[in-house]
Amino acid sequence: MPNQYTLPDLPYDYAALEPHLSAQIVELHHDKHHAAYVTGANGAIDGLAAAREKNDFATINQLEKNLAFHLSGHVLHSLLWKNMSPDGGGEPEGELKAAIDDQLGGFEAFKNQLTQASNGIQGSGWGVLAWDPTGGRLIVEQVYDHQSNLGQAAVPLLALDMWEHAFYLQYKNVKADWVTAFWNLANWADVGERFGRVSSLSVV
Ligand code: MN
Repeated sequence: MPNQYTLPDLPYDYAALEPHLSAQIVELHHDKHHAAYVTGANGAIDGLAAAREKNDFATINQLEKNLAFHLSGHVLHSLLWKNMSPDGGGEPEGELKAAIDDQLGGFEAFKNQLTQASNGIQGSGWGVLAWDPTGGRLIVEQVYDHQSNLGQAAVPLLALDMWEHAFYLQYKNVKADWVTAFWNLANWADVGERFGRVSSLSVV
């Protein structure tokens, strides 16, 4: 069986998000960091297949941790690239706007929550807007690493990378400036399209 996870092409040139995000960061972040998560996810899948084949589960805990970490990293980075656009910024429209108004107190309140959740992360993580199918509502999650502090079944719609590799070469230690810049890149058409795809999802 071939490797299941592949690195998606960027939907724009490395420099397309400047001045908000430098070409150097985009290139390294996509070609090196995201690529490593793809390799890691495939490696975990292969390792688990080998363990089943040999009936040797001596490293099962590490393999399962690796799968969760690298697969989640792959998913969130795949979202991140599409969640940003050279033509981004502004505010959501349509059904996504209505859901944010109804469930998160309006765009400014939601924006403030996601900003605070992102800036408050201790160590590496993400600020995420997600659809929680259990409650039938949008939620903001403060994700640690790529895979921790999550509500099960929630589907990420908008992912803001707060790992230092996402901003340090441009914004140094002032991570709040990266969050401010991200709002100028947010691709609400993409987020709204994702919302439309998952808002009727039923899990439990
Ligand atoms: Mn990253």
